Amino acid sequence: MSSHYDVLGVSPEATGEEIKKAYRKLARTLHPDVNPGEDAAERFKAVTHAYEVLSDPQKRHVYDTTGNENGTDTGFGGYTGQGFAFQDIFDTFFGGGGSAGPASRVRRGQDALISVRIELRDAVFGVNKRLEVDTAVVCPTCDGSCCRPGTHPERCDICGGSGQVQRAVRSILGQVMTTAPCGSCEGFGTIIKDPCNECNGQGRIRSRRSLTVKVPAGVATGTRIQLAGQGEAGPAGGPAGDLYVEIRVNPDPMFVREGDDLHATLSVPMTAAALGTELTLETYDGTQDIDVKAGTQSGEVITMRGLGVTHLRGYGRGDLKVHLQVETPTKMDAAQEELLRQLAKLRGEQYTEGKLVASGGMFAKLRDKLGNL
Ligand SMILES: [Zn+2]
Ligand SMILES: [Zn+2]
Repeated sequence: MSSHYDVLGVSPEATGEEIKKAYRKLARTLHPDVNPGEDAAERFKAVTHAYEVLSDPQKRHVYDTTGNENGTDTGFGGYTGQGFAFQDIFDTFFGGGGSAGPASRVRRGQDALISVRIELRDAVFGVNKRLEVDTAVVCPTCDGSCCRPGTHPERCDICGGSGQVQRAVRSILGQVMTTAPCGSCEGFGTIIKDPCNECNGQGRIRSRRSLTVKVPAGVATGTRIQLAGQGEAGPAGGPAGDLYVEIRVNPDPMFVREGDDLHATLSVPMTAAALGTELTLETYDGTQDIDVKAGTQSGEVITMRGLGVTHLRGYGRGDLKVHLQVETPTKMDAAQEELLRQLAKLRGEQYTEGKLVASGGMFAKLRDKLGNL
C-alpha cells in the first residue's frame, strides 16, 4: 500500500504549503464532479484522505512515527468516504464564490405566455394576428440602469465592491476562510443611493403594447408560437425572455377538424339521393360542386382532395370529407303518402296486414353491417 506521501506525490519532507498545493492540483482533476470515472472517484477518496492526515500537524506526526493514523482519537479504521464533506472541500477550493466577484443585477427576464383565439379558417390558411401584451419592458427613464438619470451606482463600503464578505470557518482542513454575499449590497458590490423614480430602481416597468404575430397555417388548439425576446424584460436592463403565444381555435358551425382533414355533413333529400343530383357547398376555397350519384346511401363520404387544413410542417393540405346524410321525409300530406305507397308497390315491396315482409336482401345487408363491427 502506498504511503500518503506517495498518493499526493510529495516527499516526506514536504511543507504544509507543498502538501496543500499538491492536493489542490490532484483534487481539481479527480473530483467526481469533474471526472466521472470510477478510478478517479477511488483516487479522489485516497488523495483526500491522505491530505486529511498530512494537513493536520498532529495527525501527520502520528502517521510519521507509527506508519498509520490509528493513534489519533478520530479512530477511523479504513476510509469510507462518509462523514467528510467533499462538497465543502470542493467549494472551499473551486466554488462557493471564492473569486467570483460581485453578482450582476442584470438578469434575463422570464418567458411569458399569452393565448389567442382564431377561427378555423385562420388555422387552414394562417393569419396575422394583432395582440395586446402586458409585460415588463426596459424602463425608459433610466434605460435599465436603475439609477435616477445623472446618478450612478456607488461602490459598497462594506465589501469594498467585491460583493462578498469573508468569514472564518472551521473545517476538516482546519480554519479556512469562506465567503458569503455582502448583506449591505446584496452581493452586487454597488449600492444605488438614488434609485430611478419610475421603476423604483428595478430598471424595468410594466407596459402594455401591441404586436403582430404571424400565425402559420396548420396550427391547432394548443400550438405554441415562440417569439424570441418578446417576453418579460430582465431586471436592470437584462435581456427579455421569450413570449409564447398559445393558439385556441374557435369551433366552427360547418366544419369539424380531425388531424388536417375537415369534415362536413350534408343533408340530401331522400328523393335527390335516389335520383342523383348536384349540390353546392361553401368551402374555405369557395363554392364547390358536389356530385351526388343516383342511389346514394346515407353515410356515404365524398372526399375532396386538398381542401383541408394546410400541413403545419411540410407541404400540402389535408382533405375535405363530406358526409352525406339522406333525409327521410316527415310530415307528409295525403297526396305524398299515396305517391310513396304507389312507389313501394311498383318496387314490389310486400306488406302483409300492414307489415313489411322482410326479404333475404334486407337480412344480407344487416349481416354485412354486423360483420363489419
Ligand atoms: Zn428606471
Ligand atoms: Zn457590499
